[in-house]
Amino acid sequence: MAKKGRVFSGIRPTGRAHLGNYLGAIQNYVALQDEYDCVYCIVDIHALTTVEDTVNLKQNTYEMALDLLAAGIRPEETILFVQSHVPQVMELHTLLSMVTPLGKLTDLPTFKEKARQQPHNVNYGLVGYPVLMTADIVLYKTDIVPVGIDQAPHIEFAREVVRSFNYRYNTKVLIEPDMKNTEVPKVLGIDGKEKMSKSLDNHIELALTPEETRQRVMMMVTDPQRMKRTDPGNPDICNVFSLHKIFTPKEDVDMINTECRRAGIGCVDCKKRFAENLNKALEPFRAKRAELASRPDQVVAILEDGARRARLIAEKTMAEVREAVQLP
Ligand code: SF4
Repeated sequence: MAKKGRVFSGIRPTGRAHLGNYLGAIQNYVALQDEYDCVYCIVDIHALTTVEDTVNLKQNTYEMALDLLAAGIRPEETILFVQSHVPQVMELHTLLSMVTPLGKLTDLPTFKEKARQQPHNVNYGLVGYPVLMTADIVLYKTDIVPVGIDQAPHIEFAREVVRSFNYRYNTKVLIEPDMKNTEVPKVLGIDGKEKMSKSLDNHIELALTPEETRQRVMMMVTDPQRMKRTDPGNPDICNVFSLHKIFTPKEDVDMINTECRRAGIGCVDCKKRFAENLNKALEPFRAKRAELASRPDQVVAILEDGARRARLIAEKTMAEVREAVQLP
């Protein structure tokens, strides 16, 4: 079937993916393969803007690749690779930086937020992050970038950089990417308050064992106003219930919704049911992951082949870009 165009997305090498990564991005990556020609990149260079200790960077990149493949990324059709394996992106980043006003970068809310979070390490790469991101996108002649609403300004920024470049050099070699809104409700961590995140240690990794998963689920905060078993609960403000709606059969979700409100089910039982359903849903993922992990050379070969295919596209684009800039 003819594909609708090319999708590009980058994911950080944060090691083993968690439920928030899966529901917020990876599951969508998998679905997009049916309609689009997909290019997915594990952005190790981007990670350097915030990660100072790189001792686990290789392993974390490998673990993320394992999770993406186990979740259903199909490397025979999709290009999956590591950002630093395509050095052309650094060259394009430099050329795009020449048409990007510094003030625009320092005004971006994401830069201000990062500078607040790591005042001891406001590095040049952090300021130029959106330019590198733009280079990632346009290097592969991307048509569509899947984004949540909070990332929309970055795509608008990328479009502006492309327009500036094409105008400055009187060319059309770079394509303005469109965005595809892939907003999913925010996935909260087991604390029931903050977005699921490794840094907050409120996450549930996909690759945990069933028993480890059960233990994490049993730690989940439920309806904060339900103090004891005999109190009626309110599923509408319960994080466990919002995840039940994703992983539990509808008739059981309806039953929990009713029984919780009249104290017919306790939170311990409710969480046990959720852990069972989550473990069941993750069974195929875990089996595939274990199989891939038993053949690490094959995973490395998949990433190498992805980088080779990515470099073919990248080098073609860069030849056009160098010509447009009139580099001798
Ligand atoms: Fe949440 Fe279930 Fe407890 Fe109700 S019974 S508050 S839905 S965990």
